[in-house]
Amino acid sequence: MDCLFCKIIAGDIPCKKVYEDDNMLAFHDIAPEAPVHVLVIPKCHIGSMDEVNEANSGVVAKIFEKIPEIAKMAGVKNGYRLISNCGPDAGQSVMHLHFHIIGGTELPLHVFPDQE
Ligand code: AMP
Ligand code: ZN
Repeated sequence: MDCLFCKIIAGDIPCKKVYEDDNMLAFHDIAPEAPVHVLVIPKCHIGSMDEVNEANSGVVAKIFEKIPEIAKMAGVKNGYRLISNCGPDAGQSVMHLHFHIIGGTELPLHVFPDQE
């Protein structure tokens, strides 16, 4: 399968690893949008949030259990935002489920910058 994140999991493409276990891999985003910007991905290929189902949601639960620890490992001290872009309107660019942990600074509250 021609999937960038499956290639990172296989070790064919390098990454700056933060955490790894049997279920997931966490690594620094190549184009960080904040002082802390880590991606957490399941080792099994799930295309997006739209493909989470009864058969594979266990690994998603494992990821959610681990995210607070991964955020601390990445240097978060004062809160973070968790984002999963799903589909074209959200700008999903890699079709392998991933969760962005974003933090290390105070983040803008709104999706659209001109919102009050
Ligand atoms: P999304 O736009 O939500 O699909 O997020 C994909 C993210 O993957 C973007 O923030 C990219 O900067 C990031 N990305 C793309 N290629 C790599 C890579 N080789 N290593 C680490 N992060 C990557
Ligand atoms: Zn994949």
